[in-house]
Amino acid sequence: MTISLECRECKKAFEPIFKYVCDDCFGPLDVKYDFPVVNKNTFTNREHTYWRYFELLPIQNKANIVSINAGMTPLIKAEKLGEKLGLNNLYIKNDSVNPTFSFKDRPAGIAISKAKEFGLSAVGCASTGNLAAATAAHAAKGGLPCYVFAPSDIEHAKIVQALSYGAEFIAVDGTYDDSNRIAAQIGDSKGIGIVNINMRSYYVEGSKTLAFEVAEQLGWQVPDQLIIPVGSGAMLNAICKGFEELQTISLLNDVSKMHIVAAQPTGCAPIVDAFKKKSNDVVPVENPNTIAKSLAIGDPGDGRYVLKRLKQYNGHAEESNNKEILDAILLLAKTEGVFTEPAGGVAVAVLKKMVEDGHIDKNDTTICYVTGNGLKATESLMEVLPKPQVMQPDIAKISVRIR
Ligand SMILES: *Cc1c(COP(=O)(O)O)cnc(C)c1O
Ligand SMILES: [Zn+2]
Repeated sequence: MTISLECRECKKAFEPIFKYVCDDCFGPLDVKYDFPVVNKNTFTNREHTYWRYFELLPIQNKANIVSINAGMTPLIKAEKLGEKLGLNNLYIKNDSVNPTFSFKDRPAGIAISKAKEFGLSAVGCASTGNLAAATAAHAAKGGLPCYVFAPSDIEHAKIVQALSYGAEFIAVDGTYDDSNRIAAQIGDSKGIGIVNINMRSYYVEGSKTLAFEVAEQLGWQVPDQLIIPVGSGAMLNAICKGFEELQTISLLNDVSKMHIVAAQPTGCAPIVDAFKKKSNDVVPVENPNTIAKSLAIGDPGDGRYVLKRLKQYNGHAEESNNKEILDAILLLAKTEGVFTEPAGGVAVAVLKKMVEDGHIDKNDTTICYVTGNGLKATESLMEVLPKPQVMQPDIAKISVRIR
């Protein structure tokens, strides 16, 4: 397999080296492939992780793979939630059950494998929470030191998790954008592979597997609607790239009819704002304020490209506030038995609005991406759920309402 890098703006080609911006125009670089000939059976009996798509990923030598067995997560036919919302073909892509409990195991695993292929001696990331654990776990497995930069106010569980995998955790007294700036400077000056900054071209390739798996799990059919929670926008963009590549290698027919929905939380919805104003410029949110901390990226790196994708795919962008997010978390949990963190709540809440606004037909094959696990972010739910009643262990004194 041969790969190269290509500037997303001016299309200039580069060797596939440790590099992420174009020398000429500073545009981001994407991985381009000379794909081998594959067919639907190529992947059928492979391992149950996203590495089953090795030929479509940017690692040259299998010996460099660092795997904690992420991916190939369930695509759940959401009959009960579908019934509540009035949808006949609703699916939940349940990425909350990855090894570190979010979809970030996909991009982190690819970036760290690539860092090994480049012979880098350390890795790191700027994180809103989930990437910290995903990077730290893969770094542990790959035997590389790991430096995590994240806002100091992220969820407790996410900090504990990254520390447990042995990462050096730098808690930045500021926003995600502050953490990102510091990580970028340290990455460049110390030659550290910051997975979502100077390794970004390779990093985003991991999220493509969210398209590959859904396509395979649907029997190589193109879905009609994709609801995607958006922070930096890297995942949304990568999912589109994934579906397009499947068309290129003739595993899917026409993907141009898909509709893409970008879901952001109120309090940090710069892409939704731009979309609703029909503007191509994403105006950064200086101080994000939402319980969906994993989406609290005020200045989204791929914001402009998300807007392009929404145009390309007749898409929509919508936001949901804290109350709607919490209601959606509970709705998903109580109908499908899937417990997600606020980012997944944002996706479900926006899905509901899209149905109510008539943007989704009841028979559309609709995929809602649930990207993170509820156990990593219980703080905001604790405030709205009833406290369990403490009772004496004496049957005569216990009063339980049995329905
Ligand atoms: C990071 C994250 C997202 C957003 O991904 P981007 O690529 O930043 O848009 C969505 N959901 C969860 C759970 C995340 O951790
Ligand atoms: Zn360029």
